[in-house]
Amino acid sequence: MSIRIAINGFGTIGKRVADAVSKQSDMILVGVYKNRPNYEAYTAYIRGYPIYVSQEKAGEFEKRGIPVKGVLEDLLKKVDVIIDATPSKVGENYRSLYQRAGVKMIFQGGEKASVADVSFNAIANYEKALGARSVRVVSCNTTGLVRVISAVSKNLKVERVRAYIVRRAADPKEIGRGPINSVVLDPPKIPSHHAEDVKTVLGNIDIVTMAVAVPTTLMHTHMITFKLGERTTRSRVMDMLMETPRIALVSSEQSGITSTAELVEVARDMGRLRSDIYENIVWEESIDVSGDEIHMIQAIHQEAIVVPENIDAIRAVTGIEKDWRKSVYKTDYSLGIVKNFAKP
Ligand code: NAD
Repeated sequence: MSIRIAINGFGTIGKRVADAVSKQSDMILVGVYKNRPNYEAYTAYIRGYPIYVSQEKAGEFEKRGIPVKGVLEDLLKKVDVIIDATPSKVGENYRSLYQRAGVKMIFQGGEKASVADVSFNAIANYEKALGARSVRVVSCNTTGLVRVISAVSKNLKVERVRAYIVRRAADPKEIGRGPINSVVLDPPKIPSHHAEDVKTVLGNIDIVTMAVAVPTTLMHTHMITFKLGERTTRSRVMDMLMETPRIALVSSEQSGITSTAELVEVARDMGRLRSDIYENIVWEESIDVSGDEIHMIQAIHQEAIVVPENIDAIRAVTGIEKDWRKSVYKTDYSLGIVKNFAKP
């Protein structure tokens, strides 16, 4: 039996999750809720996704040639799980409606942690979300940090983590956001909110994060330092990263890749839908281990990184798959996720 899914908010995250749901053999996308008849509504229509709107907006959609199936309440009656991918802080306003409909709820990282029972990452805490009524898939930066911290902390005693985040200014479609010619402290305090957000998944670890926003739309970059309670070797760290799903290595020596622009170009050349990169991309040559310290640099594609996590969150809350590795394997296989980037 397939899990029946609805998506509220068909923007950057919603449309990607919709396409990923459509690739799963154990899920069916019943419909999407759109609040505006814009170009993204056309995308949903062209993809053949049934579109639900509010009563007041139905006429506007029909006028633009976009057929409407019904209202959100109709859609909620037909599904097991709602993925809320509305803008930050909007999702919580829908919570009571979802609750009344009796559906399982998956929110995104722009919501407060209190919106859901569990802040989720498939590699770190899948079991905690098994059967939960609601989960929040943490934000793009937090997902990237949690994956790599989990890879190390499942194998070694981590005493503290320090992460320096270079954030993209906006997503490519966001014409009104910046900066366009500055480096902006974002936020102008240390630690940035990312440290607290990592703790919502990993518990009370010693982590400090600092972030600046720069004029790029492609990807975030993280420079991360671990202080361990034991000594280790570079080859052991490489093995941990290779054994952890959704972390891919790229070699600058072999591929010549030293930038986010070239990573995105590879994703285009691979024929990835929307040039999406679902993996944390860790530069092999950046991995430096000296005794009890590890350093590394990774790139995170903000538009795509949380997509596989949403798919696993669906399996966790419905309990259709109890083993996180099996869910992650299914998802990663369906999305063509790799371990080595830009390598044959
Ligand atoms: P978006 O603006 O691209 O898409 C939001 C969608 O919701 C749009 O289709 C918009 O028309 C619709 N919408 C707006 N108001 C609505 C309302 N009141 N009711 C229903 N729909 C409404 O936003 P996004 O970037 O996809 O972000 C969605 C969530 O995902 C946020 O919580 C965000 O923090 C989180 N997130 C975003 C990114 C990213 O880089 N874009 C990465 C990870 C997580």
